[in-house]
Amino acid sequence: MTTRFRRAVVTGGAGFLGALACRRLLEAGTSVVCVDNLLTGSAQALTRLRSWPEFEFRYCDVTEPFDVTGPVDLVLHLASPASPTAYGRFPIETLETGSRGTRHALDLAERTGARFVMASTSEVYGDPEVSPQPEGYWGHVNPIGPRSVYDEAKRFAEALTAAYARAGRVSAGIARIFNSYGPGMRPDDGRMVPTFACQALRGDPVTVTGDGTQTRSLCHASDTVRGLLLLAASDLPGPVNIGNPDEATVHQIATRIIALAGSGSRITHLPRPPDDPMTRCPDISLARSELGFEPRIGWQQGLADTLNWFTRFVHPDRPRVPVGGGF
Ligand code: NAD
Repeated sequence: MTTRFRRAVVTGGAGFLGALACRRLLEAGTSVVCVDNLLTGSAQALTRLRSWPEFEFRYCDVTEPFDVTGPVDLVLHLASPASPTAYGRFPIETLETGSRGTRHALDLAERTGARFVMASTSEVYGDPEVSPQPEGYWGHVNPIGPRSVYDEAKRFAEALTAAYARAGRVSAGIARIFNSYGPGMRPDDGRMVPTFACQALRGDPVTVTGDGTQTRSLCHASDTVRGLLLLAASDLPGPVNIGNPDEATVHQIATRIIALAGSGSRITHLPRPPDDPMTRCPDISLARSELGFEPRIGWQQGLADTLNWFTRFVHPDRPRVPVGGGF
């Protein structure tokens, strides 16, 4: 990233993607104010970030009005429960963070004249009827199912962001992030990669939902965050898909994780949760042409350093090769 920003506010900066975004900004010479209520964030990630003198942490719930004094030229709005486990546990908080929280983050960007980037999600496409999914596809979402608290919170957040931008109140970019994974994820996060990785490392059954033929497209966190920062440094309003179009079945991902873990785990099958998407694959033509974005780490390669990351939690006594990605 070129040093374009002097001071950034990262909401959700103690989370998986947020902590890496804070780190990348700090490396580029940007002062960072991380705003987080630690609902799903990691105190460990904060400890690493606090070693940077230009890093500041504010314990703050974005659903309440908040302010950051002094100049700000980027608001990166990532605060939101993000895993099905988290938004299943905090359904109302998820809706409030997407709605009131996004409004407060937008108001901060408006007050300071900062560029605003909102972390939306491929979940706005629901269980898609077209694949790969281009940004022009409006989605196939159940508005009242168990996933709706997340999907509709993000759809509302997109609408609110677009309304502020249309009214000329902010320069905003909406990023639709596809499944991201990598070192820095919490082992108890509940999403597919940490779940499979910890199961495989423990030698427990790896629990694939359904028959495993549903597809996912895994994007390494370092690619995702690079895409977010490219969007931040541009004037593109989006929405723009940020992901890796290299699609794989859930069964293939589980098999690869078991092999990388050198594990004797078997795959067992659980019922698919309601509204679980059958296919997930980004069309990244827009990100390629407008941002010059290209994912660099394939999922097979990226899972190797991710397995290494989870080994520290499951087998703290085992020697590890130091992982990259700033962790
Ligand atoms: P995460 O759960 O690791 O991080 C989210 C952070 O937001 C946490 O630190 C949490 O404490 C904080 N937070 C939640 N509610 C808050 C509130 N009301 N006030 C202040 N802080 C709050 O999730 P992540 O994977 O890092 O995701 C970051 C963002 O990217 C989220 O908005 C998520 O929806 C989006 N996203 C992520 C993925 C992915 O695969 N990781 C995919 C699509 C979209």
